[in-house]
Amino acid sequence: MTYKPPFTRTPRGAPSAGPAALRRANLSLVLRELRDHTSLSRAHIAEATGLHRATVSNLMAELLERRLVREVGVEHVGAIGRPRRAVALHGAHVGALGMEINVDYIAVHGTDLSGRVLVERRVVYDAMGSGPDSAVRRLGAVAKSAVETMRRTGAVPAGIAVAVPGLVDVTRGVVTLAPNLYWHGLPLADQLSAMLDPLSMPVQVDNDANLAALAEYTSGVAAGTPYLVYLTGEVGVGGGIILGGELLRGADGFSGEVGHLPVDPNGTQCGCGRIGCWETKVGLAALVRAAMPEQAYGLPGMPVPDPGERVADIARGLASGDRRMMTAVAQVGEWLGLGGSILANLLNPGVIVIGGYFASLAEWLLPHAQDQLQRLVVAPPAAQCRFVASTLGFGAASRGAASMVVNHIIDDPTTIMDSPPRPAPY
Ligand SMILES: [Zn+2]
Repeated sequence: MTYKPPFTRTPRGAPSAGPAALRRANLSLVLRELRDHTSLSRAHIAEATGLHRATVSNLMAELLERRLVREVGVEHVGAIGRPRRAVALHGAHVGALGMEINVDYIAVHGTDLSGRVLVERRVVYDAMGSGPDSAVRRLGAVAKSAVETMRRTGAVPAGIAVAVPGLVDVTRGVVTLAPNLYWHGLPLADQLSAMLDPLSMPVQVDNDANLAALAEYTSGVAAGTPYLVYLTGEVGVGGGIILGGELLRGADGFSGEVGHLPVDPNGTQCGCGRIGCWETKVGLAALVRAAMPEQAYGLPGMPVPDPGERVADIARGLASGDRRMMTAVAQVGEWLGLGGSILANLLNPGVIVIGGYFASLAEWLLPHAQDQLQRLVVAPPAAQCRFVASTLGFGAASRGAASMVVNHIIDDPTTIMDSPPRPAPY
């Protein structure tokens, strides 16, 4: 399958900007080719990038010396062609740390430059009830622990990206509003950087659904589908929209807030303050309230259970034919299909990938959702849009966050090649 990977841009700096910019652009071109293929010969790289073979050889010598690529054997071309040595992305010493903070957990996904997973974990945490100060402290502690684990494998993270369920000003790293966390105008990138000060690594913040959509597009069940919508199925519901192979950010970076589509003027109040938002119908809190009201979110004195355990309880009930749960999941499935039909009418995606708890309960939700979508979409071809369950689980956003860090390194590899060695963190 061939497709344009996300974050593919014209290399920064035009050749006329000078030799440093030219080198940076060329290094980025070469690494990008290697990211998108398992391995390539220098001749193939020259052909794909349009660079002269001698230039590719020089760049490759530098990348090999920096251990960002490695020789992986011999590529034979044709029956009589001269064997060519192939290279692949390496960078085992360069880490990329992706994190996600959500209502009831913090997730971590750390890789090296080639995407090899070095650390992956989810910590149950009541971010909703803790307030921003405690939550940022906890996020920082989890980040430090992950960095330590990665360093033990020999990788020093070159950056951290954090996924947040809310509106994010990505240029400033400020969470404008995360209604389900009660965060408002939180300068998360600055606060986290200050906590990790001795590590001096850049921190980026982005919306969780955007990052999960990137993860789905690059390595998920519908990877490479150029018109794809991803839905987070948590207490809140967000959307990440890939159009023509690119993440849609909108004029101000706030596209994809599908959880707040007003679908029921007579509905209940949403965390955002409005009435009848889609997530009040299909979010995990709505399902739990209908399926097992004695364990509803927000009841006084209730400990925060692992969301996976809560969903597993519901799955067990459904498997045993619990009527209340069957009714609850059918209702949520129909609302899922109604909202999906709005997206299909508006954007005409080929696939709507459902993540989080939606994926865990897909076998019960999807028949209702798919029927409703087909009934409500106007153009017959657009009604072919399929709901597909994500296979990335709760880790999709943190995985996308790590790949965003990798993409940024590949956009400008000189940031790690030319910087002095980092001080020890502790
Ligand atoms: Zn809302």
